[in-house]
Amino acid sequence: MTGDDALREAAARALQRAYAPYSGHRVGAALETPAGRIHTGVNVENASYGLTLCAERVALFKAVSEGDREFRRLAVVSEGVPPLPCGACRQALAEFAPDLRVLVQGRDGAEERSLSELLPSPFQLEKAGGPAEQPRRGSGA
Ligand code: ZN
Repeated sequence: MTGDDALREAAARALQRAYAPYSGHRVGAALETPAGRIHTGVNVENASYGLTLCAERVALFKAVSEGDREFRRLAVVSEGVPPLPCGACRQALAEFAPDLRVLVQGRDGAEERSLSELLPSPFQLEKAGGPAEQPRRGSGA
């Protein structure tokens, strides 16, 4: 099993825990650090639809909250079409890993993209007059 296969398998296992009673569209994600640590996520829906969070951002926010800020690969798996990340997830991921490799797999196929290909011009704040704390990527430790 290649590293890519193992990461897709981690995303597929996570998918079983997705909470998608409204759409029925279950998604699992697995985000890998350069050291090989894997953080998984699933989509979590809500009766107030706008509160729903995608699997990719769940994995990312879990990872950052646990001290990781560098990522090399993301696998996203669904039971439908290959689930390319939505625009919000692309922007959130670009904050930490603009060169991320993105592996998507659905029922009928798989694709591999780079995040810079999916989101070539992410939103960035100007440094001058920007936030009091400059963005600090890399290890959160
Ligand atoms: Zn998304």
